[in-house]
Amino acid sequence: MKAQLQEQKKQCIFCKLISGEMEAKKVFEDDVTVAMVDIYPAIKGHTLFLPKEHYPILPYMPQEEFKHLFGLVPGMCEAVKKAMVTTSCNVFIASGGVAGQQAGHFLMHIFPRDQGDGFFNFFWKQKETLEDEKLKVLQNNFPIMMGNHFKRNPMSWHTGNGEQPSFLKEVYENGHVLYEDEQVLCVVPEKGVVKGHIEVYSKVEKSLIENLSIEESFHLFSTASLAATLVFEGLGSQGTNIILKSGTTDDNSEGKLCVHILPRSQDDGLNKTLLWEAKQPSYDVDSVMKKIKDKTWKVKYKEEAKKEETLIVKPEVIKIGSEKKDTDEDGSLGFEDEIKKAIEKIRN
Ligand SMILES: [Zn+2]
Repeated sequence: MKAQLQEQKKQCIFCKLISGEMEAKKVFEDDVTVAMVDIYPAIKGHTLFLPKEHYPILPYMPQEEFKHLFGLVPGMCEAVKKAMVTTSCNVFIASGGVAGQQAGHFLMHIFPRDQGDGFFNFFWKQKETLEDEKLKVLQNNFPIMMGNHFKRNPMSWHTGNGEQPSFLKEVYENGHVLYEDEQVLCVVPEKGVVKGHIEVYSKVEKSLIENLSIEESFHLFSTASLAATLVFEGLGSQGTNIILKSGTTDDNSEGKLCVHILPRSQDDGLNKTLLWEAKQPSYDVDSVMKKIKDKTWKVKYKEEAKKEETLIVKPEVIKIGSEKKDTDEDGSLGFEDEIKKAIEKIRN
């Protein structure tokens, strides 16, 4: 499998764009991540944000890099929004060919959004109800997966379920709770876009992704990523889309901050609306690139003050981090065991 990855890496356009072998329209770069404008944008200001290292899908990414990448999402979204002068944004991730994943290099799409912007890809109808027995499978397994996640990534703030914020009242009323803690609420809505549609809401921020801290964004996306694994495992989905909605748009009328996980199958017909065609933009990409680049200077990854026990393992983390080839085989840095099984499914 490693040899296969090395071969894939050699032919990867994104690895070439990152290394400079091909010219990229970069707007941000640090030691772990890079952002560039998409030269075939779905919407003006369409930006790609990705790890420098080649990982075909999310579960391959070592925890430290996952945290770095997703911890910077609020900052990247803020920069893109400011540059394009919009009030809202989306983050879009496709895992698996059926979900529209085209590159072998994991990446996320950031779309600056506004109400009335004419972008209707995420304007979906929610009409599918998940069968009770399948809902039970999700409800039984997800708290266990989240428990394992906390065992491997102890968070000092986590002691229980937390409060029920009043701005999420309707979500509690119209959905089946899979899991909640102090920072997130995870539900299966009564009616979903597809069966097994999961919504992960932030409890700490009502609407805007840029108001989350690095730690809070990491936890929101960790939960979303594990929910995606859950639908692979629990529902046998062939792919997933992870779509963050932030701020008010025509497809997010209340402006709630929420990550949607859509389990995908070959014949669900969703790609007609969700995906976009690669076409030349009608505007000057270089001027958009310059505008976004001017706003990313603030984006910076800072680890929160570490607890004592974390400090003790730190030298080991650094050593492993410099030998990237082996990180995903290291239990302490790798993701959940459950994910390994999911990877096999997504590769088919
Ligand atoms: Zn690559």
